[in-house]
Amino acid sequence: MKSNNPSVSQVALEKLTSSLSGELSDLFIRQCGFCCKKIDSNFTAYSICQKMSGEEAFYCSFCLRNGFNHKGKKDVLILSFRAIFAHFYYSFYLNPTADKKMWLMEINDYIEAHKKAGLTNPAFEYDDETFLWFIDFNKIGNSKKRIFVQEIYKTILNILMTFNFYENIPDMILHVFFQKYKNAIDEFYARRFRPENKFMLIPTLSNCGVQNRISSDKSRNFCINLMKYKKIIDF
Ligand SMILES: [Zn+2]
Repeated sequence: MKSNNPSVSQVALEKLTSSLSGELSDLFIRQCGFCCKKIDSNFTAYSICQKMSGEEAFYCSFCLRNGFNHKGKKDVLILSFRAIFAHFYYSFYLNPTADKKMWLMEINDYIEAHKKAGLTNPAFEYDDETFLWFIDFNKIGNSKKRIFVQEIYKTILNILMTFNFYENIPDMILHVFFQKYKNAIDEFYARRFRPENKFMLIPTLSNCGVQNRISSDKSRNFCINLMKYKKIIDF
């Protein structure tokens, strides 16, 4: 039976009309000016983000989608529970001599559970790639259609409950860890204050009674790209 598809000789080749980058590689690596995510994208995706970002800074598609390129971003507090994921990963998954063991799948389940708990609050937005939460303080206050700041504390507590510290990190002094979030949230709520060089609120497990802690840098910079199966990790 004769096919209706054209043969190779019948295909007319046309010159591409879309503009290319002119670079040797069509892969663009940039850092977002708000969430600091490193993005590698093709020329088309890069061009869209660049156009929407404007002249002064470059923003990732997540931040553009959520309007974090506008002035209102000064009212957005970025925070994360990365230190807990990093502790689970480095101390319970990668460490071959650890008493406590955790599978990568289990860690993923905890990440999903914490996401579900946080997203019950509409003032919270979440980026899976960076484990970062974005809390819009325009939605928080005592006036109509705003929620009380206490609702933020409650959501933080609900998120912390999903990590099952009682079993996973019994030494953890939870109220000390929670207080790190609460104090920073109070400061941000009252005067939009964040300490210099600590633009994002990513508390480590220091001073919380936790044994064999990993370094602050590893805790603060943990993201999904670092979560790999043991066999492909270079020890
Ligand atoms: Zn971003």
